[in-house]
Amino acid sequence: GVETTQLAELELIDTKEGAQVPYLALCKVFELIEGTSKRLEITAYIRDFLLQVMRVGQEQLTHTVMLCISKIAPDHEGIELGIGEAILIKSIAAATGRQASRVKQEHQELGDLGLVVQRGKSGQRTMFKPKPLSVSKVFTTFREIALTSGSSSTQKKQSLIVGLLASCSELEARFLIRSLEGRMRIGLAESTVQTALSHAALIYEKGDKDSAKLGPSDFQAATESLKQTLSEFPIYSNVIESIYKHGIKGVADHCMLTPTLPVKPMLAKIEKAADDVLRRFEGKPFTCEFKYDGERSQIHFVREDDGTTKCVIFSRNAENNTGKYPDIANSVKEFALEGVNSFILDCEAVAWDKLGGKIRSFQTLSSRKRKVGNESEITIGVCCFAFDLLFLNGEPLIRLPLRQRRELLHKHFTPVLNKFQFATAKDLTEVEDIQELLELSVEENCEGLMIKTLDGESSSYEPSKRSMNWLKLKKDYVDGLGDSLDLVVIGAYFGKGKRVGAYGSYLLACYDPDREEYQTICNIGTGFSEADLESHKTQLDQSVIATPKPYYAVSDKSKPDIWFEPTQVWEVKAADLSLSSTYLAAFGQIDASKGVSLRFPRFIRIRDDKTPEMATTSSQVAEMYENQKINQ
Ligand code: ATP
Repeated sequence: GVETTQLAELELIDTKEGAQVPYLALCKVFELIEGTSKRLEITAYIRDFLLQVMRVGQEQLTHTVMLCISKIAPDHEGIELGIGEAILIKSIAAATGRQASRVKQEHQELGDLGLVVQRGKSGQRTMFKPKPLSVSKVFTTFREIALTSGSSSTQKKQSLIVGLLASCSELEARFLIRSLEGRMRIGLAESTVQTALSHAALIYEKGDKDSAKLGPSDFQAATESLKQTLSEFPIYSNVIESIYKHGIKGVADHCMLTPTLPVKPMLAKIEKAADDVLRRFEGKPFTCEFKYDGERSQIHFVREDDGTTKCVIFSRNAENNTGKYPDIANSVKEFALEGVNSFILDCEAVAWDKLGGKIRSFQTLSSRKRKVGNESEITIGVCCFAFDLLFLNGEPLIRLPLRQRRELLHKHFTPVLNKFQFATAKDLTEVEDIQELLELSVEENCEGLMIKTLDGESSSYEPSKRSMNWLKLKKDYVDGLGDSLDLVVIGAYFGKGKRVGAYGSYLLACYDPDREEYQTICNIGTGFSEADLESHKTQLDQSVIATPKPYYAVSDKSKPDIWFEPTQVWEVKAADLSLSSTYLAAFGQIDASKGVSLRFPRFIRIRDDKTPEMATTSSQVAEMYENQKINQ
């Protein structure tokens, strides 16, 4: 549904073409959002603000949207804000005329630099009123700050930040500093901004009179289409340009899959037993592929008209991983057959034992360097197992059935010894055969099977969706161990006995994307080797913070001795999930006054390919808890 307009509470801005959107107006919207937890209300605030900005113009809209999602560039460009605490503290001190030590102390008390700077500003008397900040000025300066590198870059960044703070009101300073930290913490998820943008665009297009006739289904269609477009073409500036040119309905036809731009990968649902697969697919033909245990790799390739070529490899979360896999990038011409000029392949890169001709463990792969200078430095061999083809010779294929995509994959590519293979796949119909293939996959060092529908619309490639048309069946689920969880390390407890000097155990959390917070789920002390214990400590000690982040949901009963920034994601297995009054995961979702916690959690490995925000979500935790109840 669509909430009635909230414009009465919103600051009206000058919508003349060429006008500047005041940063203060945007901050007032942030403040309104911070004051509510109702998703519809949040969407309405942003929608109505964006609608005004839309009238001002394309560039202003792009900058506003980017500030709303706390980004200064598309993810794959790797340009992030996330300015370190030390620089921010010095800048705040300089801008408010106080000692850095005092700022630090207030930070310890308040736990939020945004509030610290706001307080500092409020006590400040200014001789003359500075020129108000515009959204564009803030956005472009943010980019400049992020792109500053080389000698004395700390100094340069600091003076840019001080410059911005000098023109800020108290409220602006609070949000400006939080943006620089890389997090707004007002409960504004990117997906909400996308919904609001699609609604605003639709209303803008229809005009005041006709938009009154729009119904919920019109808004829903616009939202779905925009989200789909952004998962295929993740560049807001181009998508917004296209909204102005072609309307919200036309965007999908103009911003399509493009080699060298990462596609949000399709994800799978968990299936517990081979016989459930048949029931789930209701007679639809499906294929069972080996589920390789390595790193998801999207290989993009284009040959330009002048014959030059470009190959980019993206990770599961759209990071440019080409520097990690130069060997794969260099072998494109061997595995792509003649006549192939552009493509996007979906693959799993696994550590490979050339002599034995077999797959090595995930642990082996994770010891490969993040950046390899050139191929001769490579010590861990990798083989790519391709399971999907999303784009070929200028044409997106994702709407085609999987059977056809697979045919094209096999027709235009060829296996290359020790470098490139097609994922082992069998189109099965009997439970016994699925079970047998599952056993075989495990024997060959795979994790289990991926089971996918083959024909019709339900077998298209659905970017960014966790789809019912892809099921994952792991040996562990069949054995009743359940799926693992990916959790964020937010604290540690000092060790006793044998572990004096190291950390004895760690506090883990899942992520709630709606509330933008990390919720504690367990204390973990098993599954670590001696070497793990040492390297975890060294790595995590670099991200120690004095006070917990305001977006950590932790009860008094589980306060750790040391707090960390959210940086590492750990894969963890547990015996089961239970209700808890100590841990706060999925709080209120199952029981009004209890959270969910893990019993007997065990460390499996570090998940370098996931950012903390990609950790298991609280609704997934709730779902896992409910599922086990059914099975018991
Ligand atoms: P998720 O991606 O579902 O959040 P995850 O990253 O822990 O969870 P899994 O649930 O283990 O991954 O399974 C999905 C992953 O399996 C894919 O992202 C991909 O990297 C890998 N994979 C291996 N083989 C295949 C295959 N044949 N088809 C699709 N994905 C495969």
